[in-house]
Amino acid sequence: MTYRYIDVHCHPQLRQYKDDQNEVIERMAEEGVAGIVVGVDKVSSEEAVLLATKYEHLWASIGLHPNDTPHEDFSSEQYASLIKNPKVVAIGECGLDFYRILPDVDVVKEKERQWRVFTSQVAFATANDLPLMIHCRPSQGSMDAYEDILSYLESYKKEHLSLSGNIHFFVGTLAIAERFWSIGFSTSLTGVITFTNDYDDVVKGAPLSMLLSETDAPYVAPVPHRGKRNEPVYVRHVVEKIAELRGISEDEVATTLLKNAERVFKIEGLV
Ligand SMILES: [Zn+2]
Repeated sequence: MTYRYIDVHCHPQLRQYKDDQNEVIERMAEEGVAGIVVGVDKVSSEEAVLLATKYEHLWASIGLHPNDTPHEDFSSEQYASLIKNPKVVAIGECGLDFYRILPDVDVVKEKERQWRVFTSQVAFATANDLPLMIHCRPSQGSMDAYEDILSYLESYKKEHLSLSGNIHFFVGTLAIAERFWSIGFSTSLTGVITFTNDYDDVVKGAPLSMLLSETDAPYVAPVPHRGKRNEPVYVRHVVEKIAELRGISEDEVATTLLKNAERVFKIEGLV
């Protein structure tokens, strides 16, 4: 298959696509969009692997989200059988989410729980030489979760040089992004960049080699689809916006992002 775009983070296995999942995925193939289907818990990870097995243009990331399924614990035995599939290219989405800690929850205990679930996935990823797909969301008006995760990854990297991955749905500052890039983590941008200027300095200040494109579909559809259900083919609007902000051709951006995805996720045959 010939690819033009890659959506490194989407969820076509979720219920929002129960009536037209096949059409949504076939549209990707028609428009040359490769995709990484990301699990948020055990069941959606298994479904991601099934889709990646069924469709040539899909790959899978498997893992446990910091707070989508708070009662589930990460069990490496459960996930070990899934990574035998060669189309599993990353562990996640995993990470820290301090934005959505509910008011009635004990913050200290919740952070401890998130750290335990996250660090066991970091160990699992490094043991199996797979990159991480990281979800990291700081509390409102702060960079707290990014700073915490960076300190952890920076010191972990000293002991485990192979540690790598991508920071999905990046909404941090340029200074935060630079720290991720310097330990070899890429940052992926969503449709958010089509409707706010808040991340223009990140898009313009990044080495193009450290950027990736994603939709996080079904969430946050880019302009001109804002407010509707998102889908992976809309990733082209993210690529167009990156090209516009950097003042280079969309072709150059599209090809470079495919190459970046090949490197970060060790996928062959995208370019
Ligand atoms: Zn996601």
